[in-house]
Amino acid sequence: MDIVLATKNRKKIEEIRKICDVLGTANRIYTLDDFPAMEDVVEDGDTFEANAVKKAKQIAGATGMTALADDSGLEVDALDRAPGVYSARYAGEDADDRANNDKLLKALKDIPGEKRGAQFVCCIALASDKEIKTFTGYVNGRISTEPKGASGFGYDPLFYPEGSNRTFAEMSDTEKNAISHRANALRELQQYLQEQSG
Ligand code: IMP
Repeated sequence: MDIVLATKNRKKIEEIRKICDVLGTANRIYTLDDFPAMEDVVEDGDTFEANAVKKAKQIAGATGMTALADDSGLEVDALDRAPGVYSARYAGEDADDRANNDKLLKALKDIPGEKRGAQFVCCIALASDKEIKTFTGYVNGRISTEPKGASGFGYDPLFYPEGSNRTFAEMSDTEKNAISHRANALRELQQYLQEQSG
């Protein structure tokens, strides 16, 4: 199946491509770079699902192709699940990863290790002219007290997945992609696609 990925985030595109390769999910993957005139989708939903559905529907409508959109972020227990849908702009509209990470570390300054639980969430929406389906993946972990590692993106340097003493940013792409929220959501999607074709 040909799919257009409704994102311009290079790291996400790479991750989704690699995961799709491993899972054998899609044949040909286009991205928004292949549709330069496309208008940006405003992510103004209250939930990951609402944002993913909005993006996938809009891109499917505009391209006439099956569109796959993801919305993802970090939920921190001690912060009532913030930054959540605001993960990309936690430290302000144009905040970069560093500023977001700094703000998170400051917010958790007085929170002890056992209360630093968090989860990454990824909701993937698949929109075609026939239907819209969503698939959600999670990975549990905890937030470090300082950034560690240089791989990945976003909050990876601050996130220890459960059972690991290395952050996502200290892992190889292959290691992260085996357990990440995005991989878990894509696995659900793959299962659905297999059921449809089989
Ligand atoms: P969006 O899904 O593009 O709206 O942005 C999600 C934001 O959540 C990113 O900018 C990151 O800050 C964070 N995020 C989502 N997935 C990951 C991940 O796999 N690692 C680190 N941060 C992530």
